[in-house]
Amino acid sequence: MDCLFCKISSGEIKSDAVYEDAEVVVFKDIHPKAPVHLLVVPKEHIQSIAHLEVNHNDIISKLIYTAKNTAANLKLNGYKLVFNVGREGGQVIDHLHLHLLGGWGNAKESLNI
Ligand code: AMP
Ligand code: ZN
Repeated sequence: MDCLFCKISSGEIKSDAVYEDAEVVVFKDIHPKAPVHLLVVPKEHIQSIAHLEVNHNDIISKLIYTAKNTAANLKLNGYKLVFNVGREGGQVIDHLHLHLLGGWGNAKESLNI
């Protein structure tokens, strides 16, 4: 399948990954909109929140739990978690991803990322 985030999560296309396990990968957004802007991405191809089925409940909670752990590891003082859904909702990549945005209140030198 010709999907950029499938290729990134399989390693076919390089990314700036900060975390990876069997189910998810977390990498830096190429056009950051915050001092820290990461994308938490399931390795399974799911198009968007609008395409969720009941069997995806585990992976959705995994995305949020991974975002929380990543933010804690980076010592972010606070952060936003955002799903853009569909073109009208600002989604341009049709592979589910959770934006983790933060770092506004952190001292720049503390953001070791
Ligand atoms: P969305 O608008 O929710 O679909 O977000 C897609 C995000 O992917 C945008 O913030 C882009 O900057 C980001 N993006 C696009 N291509 C890449 C890439 N090759 N590596 C990392 N981030 C990317
Ligand atoms: Zn995909």
